[in-house]
Amino acid sequence: MNGSMLDWPLTLDRILVHAERWHPDQAVVGAAPDGTMARRTYAECADRARRLSAALVAHGIEPGDRVATLGWNTLPHFEAWYAIMGIGAVCHTLNLRMDAAQLAWIARDAGDRLLLVDPALLPVAEAMRALCPAIEGIIVLGAGTDALIAAHDPARWGGFGEDQPAGLCYTSGTTGDPKGVLYTHRSNFLHTLAIIQPDLFGIGAADSVLPIVPMFHANAWGIAFAAPAVGAKLVLPGARLDGASVHRLIAGEGVTMSAAVPTVWQGLLDHLDRVGGGLAPLRRVVIGGSACPPSMQRRLTDHYGIEVRHAWGMTELSPLGTVAAPSAASAALSPEEGGRLLQSQGRPPLGVDLKVVSDDPDAGPDTPGRLFARGYATVGRYFGRDTPATDAEGWFETGDVAVIDRHGFLHITDRDKDVVKSGGEWISSQGLEAIAAEHPAVAHCAVIAADCDRWGERPLLVVQLREGEDCSDASLLEPFDGTVPRWWVPDGIVRVDAMPLGATGKIDKRALRDAYRDHLRAS
Ligand code: ADP
Repeated sequence: MNGSMLDWPLTLDRILVHAERWHPDQAVVGAAPDGTMARRTYAECADRARRLSAALVAHGIEPGDRVATLGWNTLPHFEAWYAIMGIGAVCHTLNLRMDAAQLAWIARDAGDRLLLVDPALLPVAEAMRALCPAIEGIIVLGAGTDALIAAHDPARWGGFGEDQPAGLCYTSGTTGDPKGVLYTHRSNFLHTLAIIQPDLFGIGAADSVLPIVPMFHANAWGIAFAAPAVGAKLVLPGARLDGASVHRLIAGEGVTMSAAVPTVWQGLLDHLDRVGGGLAPLRRVVIGGSACPPSMQRRLTDHYGIEVRHAWGMTELSPLGTVAAPSAASAALSPEEGGRLLQSQGRPPLGVDLKVVSDDPDAGPDTPGRLFARGYATVGRYFGRDTPATDAEGWFETGDVAVIDRHGFLHITDRDKDVVKSGGEWISSQGLEAIAAEHPAVAHCAVIAADCDRWGERPLLVVQLREGEDCSDASLLEPFDGTVPRWWVPDGIVRVDAMPLGATGKIDKRALRDAYRDHLRAS
């Protein structure tokens, strides 16, 4: 027997329709290529997106067809998302930090029919299309979409099921070929309802929300859905994500909540060190994508009064897995112990289940093991693949190594492939990075496994010092004194002028390993 409630598919067009109906005058602002701010309301965005939908339909785009976007977080990109998804087509967000050949490989794998692109990225889009002739056309976000919007009447949205695909996002391929994750309307809709909750991102109608995390990085962690869902002001930062630009946006647009990877926050903190000033009215930031060093969390909280929510997730989880928010347990502990819980990756929301599996049958609960996840927004099968991405019970192996403590907080100790395997024992590269980041002269740091004849691998510390700072190796190793077993202490230090960053703005450890794997042997 079925229940007898109304059939009301959870489709993503309803999110912007809701904002249009109940928060019509709320602002959506976006940095234009010339640095000025373009301003619209949710009502205007919805109307424009429907007209763009009509242009896509006129081109022959049908439900299930893939339409790619290659762009920064901008107003035209935001409108394009809803225009594509509203008619049941699939919005495939391409990562603009990839080169033309990588993009073409992904576009071919995805079967993209059209490409909507930022004007500044037109050269790479043209080069990519030359390698991918199946793409029928390129539309420039801004000039091109404006012309189409002016030429069409609004289309009708919806009328399809919630299990239809809505978005496609490829993992950046740090291991093997990139793999596509095909989100459904339902998975993204429910993910939206999850992340707005107080213990997660905690977003409300009075907020001004700045997603610095790109729309091509796992849907801007869901924020381009969450802000209209609650009627918050949405501030789209465009291409300039340096500390000074982010600082200006926060003050100028009254930003109260934001989200980005640690390297972005480091840029903002360095900028504030140089020019002074505060971060008002910002009150909460979500930091994830890679581990947030406790030293960064303390600086943001103690100096600037910002509540840091450390989050863990991945493309395959839509992306949210866990968020560290205060709980009864963290409040009841000593400030130091409670603080450690809030520095962890946190707890999963309803709808995400986690387990840690150790390969050692005698391992205690505190022994790190392989982390598995499952839930309504976890990948079941990669795009175009025949075999499931999970085991028979639906568990997806994340590739991360972790401990879940007795309070239910997740502590990621490493990515499987980043663990330093020294003489048969495992050393957590992320644990060492958190300690190295305590040194006041360190701007960015990474610990990688360097080859060693005697132990197999040994930890090597790579640092980028703050501008104008200099210090000895002995000084850089001081924070390790007494905090970790002696055999964990890095065997060498490499100084770099600029850390290599990967396609999603995180430190690219693979590039560092390629460059410095032999460093300890050579020295
Ligand atoms: P990419 O492979 O392009 O980085 P994802 O953003 O999906 O794509 O990366 C997910 C991975 O990022 C996770 O499996 C984990 O290793 C790492 N990660 C994400 N958030 C955190 C965090 N808060 N702490 C440690 N690692 C994290």
